[in-house]
Amino acid sequence: MAPRRKKIYEGKAKVLYEGPEPGTLVQYFKDDATAFNAQKKDVIEGKGVLNNRLSEYFMTGLTNIGVPNHFIKRLNMREQLIRQVEIVPLEVIVRNFAAGSIAKRLGMEEGTPLPRPIVEYSYKNDDLGDPLVPEEYIIAFGWASQQDLDDIVALALRVNDFLTGVFYGVGIKLVDFKIEIGRVWDGDFMRLIVADEISPDSCRLWDVKTGQKLDKDVFRRDLGSLTDAYTEVAKRLGVLPTNTQPIKPTLIN
Ligand code: UDP
Repeated sequence: MAPRRKKIYEGKAKVLYEGPEPGTLVQYFKDDATAFNAQKKDVIEGKGVLNNRLSEYFMTGLTNIGVPNHFIKRLNMREQLIRQVEIVPLEVIVRNFAAGSIAKRLGMEEGTPLPRPIVEYSYKNDDLGDPLVPEEYIIAFGWASQQDLDDIVALALRVNDFLTGVFYGVGIKLVDFKIEIGRVWDGDFMRLIVADEISPDSCRLWDVKTGQKLDKDVFRRDLGSLTDAYTEVAKRLGVLPTNTQPIKPTLIN
C-alpha cells in the first residue's frame, strides 16, 4: 500500500514523495518495467525491492570514495531518503563496449571494446523518445553550461571507474550505463551530484565468462526472468533483499 504522503512525481519505475525535512524526498521503487519508451510494459515482482537495495549499495560506495550523490539512507524494502535536487534534463550515458543504440547506429558488433569510455547525452523527453543530443544543443538551449558539462563528464567517468571495478570483482562486465545528474544549492553555490538511481535497469551487465545478460535487456529482448537476473547481481554483490542484515559497505563519516 502506498504511504499517505504527498506525491511529488511519478515516473515509470519510481515515485517521489515529499520527505520528512525540507530538501529531502522519499524515493519509492515500483515493480513496473518499461522499455522502448514505454511501448513494452510489465510488472516484475520484486524488481523494486532489488533496485532499492542495489542503488543503495552503489550510491553508498560512491559516497565512500567521495563522489557526491543524492542518497541519504534506505528507509525500508522499497523506499529510500534522498536529497531533493533539480534534475538536469539529460540522460548521461557512459559506454565501455558497443551495445544497444551505438552498435546499431554505427553498425558495430555488440561487445566490441571502445577505444576509450564514451560519454554521450540524450535529452530527457518521453514524447521525443529521449533523442541523442550534442553538447552544442545542450549549451545553446541552456540545459547545462560548458562548466556543468565538464563537471558532469568528470562525475560520469568517476562513476564508470567505480562501477567497472565493483562489477568486475564479481565477474560482471559493465558494458554501459546511464546516470542522471541533479543540482543542489549551498547558498548561492551550485553543485552537481549523481541522482536518480544506479541499478540493472540502467546498466548493461554481462557475465564475464559466459556473456549472459544480467540487466534490463533480459526484459527488452525476452531472454528469461528479469528477477532471476537482478537477484544474481544482488547475490554476487552480497546485497540480498530477504536478508535483514545485508552485507553492505559501511558509510565512513
Ligand atoms: N538507458 C537507460 N534509460 C534510457 C536509455 C538508456 O537507462 O532511457 C541505459 C541503457 O540501459 C543502457 C545505456 O543507457 O545501459 C545505453 O543505452 P542505449 O543508448 O544503447 O539505448 P537502448 O539500446 O537501451 O535503447
